[in-house]
Amino acid sequence: MNPDQLIREKPLALIVDDDLSLRIAMSAVLKKVGFSVIEVDNGKDGVDAFKKSRPDFILLDVIMPVLDGYKACKAIRSLPGGDYVQILMATGLDDSRSIDSAFEAGANGYITKPLNWTVLGHRARYMLKAGRAFRELNKSKTRLAKTQELAKLGNWELNLNTGEFICSKEATVLLGGLSKDGILRLGDLLAPVHPDELSTVTKEIEAALAAQESFSIDYRIVLPDGSTRYILNQGEILYSDDNGAGVMLGAIQDVTQLKAAEEEIRLLAYYDGLTGLANRMLFLDRLDQEIAAAKRSGQKLALLYMDLDQFKRINDTLGHHHGDLLLKKVSDVLQRTIRGTDTASILSRVQSASVVARLGGDEFTILLSELKEPEHAAVVARRILKEIAGPYMLEGYEVSVTTSIGISIYPGDGLDGTLLLKHADTAMYHAKNHGRNNYKFYTKALNVEVVERFSIERDIPKAIEDDEFALYYQPKINVKSGEIVGAEALIRWHHPYRGLVPPDRFIAIAEESGLIKGVNDWVLKTVCSQWHQWKSTGLDPGVLAINLSGYQLAKQNVLEAIAQNEIYDLDFSKLEVEITENILMQDTKGNAQVLQYLHDYGIRIALDDFGTGYSSLSYLTSFKVDTLKIDRSFVMGCVETPKNLVVINAIIAMGHSLGMKVVAEGVETGEEFELMKQMGVDEVQGFFFSPAVPADDFARLLLEQKD
Ligand code: C2E
Ligand code: MG
Ligand code: MG
Repeated sequence: MNPDQLIREKPLALIVDDDLSLRIAMSAVLKKVGFSVIEVDNGKDGVDAFKKSRPDFILLDVIMPVLDGYKACKAIRSLPGGDYVQILMATGLDDSRSIDSAFEAGANGYITKPLNWTVLGHRARYMLKAGRAFRELNKSKTRLAKTQELAKLGNWELNLNTGEFICSKEATVLLGGLSKDGILRLGDLLAPVHPDELSTVTKEIEAALAAQESFSIDYRIVLPDGSTRYILNQGEILYSDDNGAGVMLGAIQDVTQLKAAEEEIRLLAYYDGLTGLANRMLFLDRLDQEIAAAKRSGQKLALLYMDLDQFKRINDTLGHHHGDLLLKKVSDVLQRTIRGTDTASILSRVQSASVVARLGGDEFTILLSELKEPEHAAVVARRILKEIAGPYMLEGYEVSVTTSIGISIYPGDGLDGTLLLKHADTAMYHAKNHGRNNYKFYTKALNVEVVERFSIERDIPKAIEDDEFALYYQPKINVKSGEIVGAEALIRWHHPYRGLVPPDRFIAIAEESGLIKGVNDWVLKTVCSQWHQWKSTGLDPGVLAINLSGYQLAKQNVLEAIAQNEIYDLDFSKLEVEITENILMQDTKGNAQVLQYLHDYGIRIALDDFGTGYSSLSYLTSFKVDTLKIDRSFVMGCVETPKNLVVINAIIAMGHSLGMKVVAEGVETGEEFELMKQMGVDEVQGFFFSPAVPADDFARLLLEQKD
């Protein structure tokens, strides 16, 4: 057990003296003032007795056999617990050298022989008290140091009058061990400050000292091993008696962990977890800052709002994991592109700072500041459209994307961030409605379009319910026989107050909003029941084609919808679905499967608007396609445009070599029809024969043919 922890009834005194009579007298005096006493007669035994009994007070003779008093004193001081014991040296020598030697050896005091017994009693008691106080002080100092070490806290003190600066061991450790010469100066506090922050920190501390005010500042310091540490340094003025400033007390705390947590929170609050881009909050913040700066400088800003085209399909067909992967890749490309534009020669003149953010889902925004010309925003937009296309490899799937971008310009399109964002969003929808994969600037007229868009979206479910849709049938003519061999069913909307709405005005909206499923279901059901009705009246409409939106195709619900219509007893070989090339490109695997199912049902598959997409021959061989429909843009006016004929010729050759039927749509004149016939097209469709007509009119055409 540590003798320090012994609770003694009486303090213990050790008398070390070779003179027996003196020891007896000393012992008597010390006992009288309350000590219990042990005695030894030489220095060596004194040291041993200390080890064994840990006295509180030692009365030590100087000249003794075996080991003299100085040596014994030194030895005791070096023992554990030897720091605190009070040692009084009884010296017969009164010269200053002996006294110095006593203190050098570590004695707390001296008393000369012959001894004054009364004085000895008082000294012993006084020293015992001082010793206790000293020990308590030391204990609390140790405790404080330990606590500071644990709290990573250190303190310092600056005398404002003399400039004297002291700091605790913990502070020194925190600052990475200052002052090579061991003398601490105020400068040592600043020496390790990170170069980036040195001037701010120096200014702030100097200003506080000059104004005699408190300060609290956190900054980075660089440790000798090159690592950085965040510290919080706080100083407070302590006033002296005459009310002038005397001392500044300071505390230094290691706040690295706190900073890391703070940074984490900042990241969570301001950055998008998936892509690491700025989030909406940070973007709006920066937008406000840049608007304020642009206001001062009179410069322009551009806000680009982009939304990936048909991203929902990728998510729906490949799953969210792949969707996320794509978003990450797209965000990398965006950052690279925007950074690239910063340094690219033409654009370095265009804008200096830019922020790329993800607002959520597949929506991204880009802020271009210090814009010289609005047209420069278009340069960036075109670059994004080009760079973003991909293809991207997503864990074995190859995916391509396009995007639609809306642009609003400060100050022309709005004076605050919210309005600029709203207008860029509006322009983005405009870009979507104009075929996607492009960009549009905001114009005031767009607002009208947006309102219309929303009202159409709102009205679609009601249109299905109230039977406002109608299918029109456009005959398909066999080129050789000149007879109607089928029809393409095209949807029309008899809107209660908009009149007849063509599909181009609402199909894209239905697709974007997910309402397309209802529309497609309605089309399929109507065609099946119409076929049934014609059949039961003895009419043969031939092959009926419907246009299928890729949305439903990817969801595979088309099969359920078909199953629901089996009641109409449709001969599935008389049903054709028209899909567009870009649907095939979206997600090759999922769609291929649906097409395979349709094929298994005996349903024919036609590739619509062929030649306008990013045609790749591999699609034609890897999907079960029965019919190629040459896009009407090649057919219309082909007589005057020989280049079109080259394309048409190639399509026909390709289709036929793969065993497909080739149909030309948009045949408007007799000349065009003749040309198609000569070139070997199998079927034609177009205004030359008939536009799409209501079911009854189509039935009449069939009847006329019969006669
Ligand atoms: P599409 O499938 O390529 O349909 C052919 C379009 O060309 C039809 O326009 C048709 O009226 C038009 N057309 C036919 N012959 C000629 C001609 O000689 N000259 C000219 N200039 N045009 C001709 P419509 O009915 O306005 O349909 C436009 C598009 O809307 C269709 O293109 C199709 O992609 C889509 N669509 C139509 N009905 C449906 C539907 O029921 N469901 C889905 N998902 N999409 C549909
Ligand atoms: Mg079609
Ligand atoms: Mg077409």
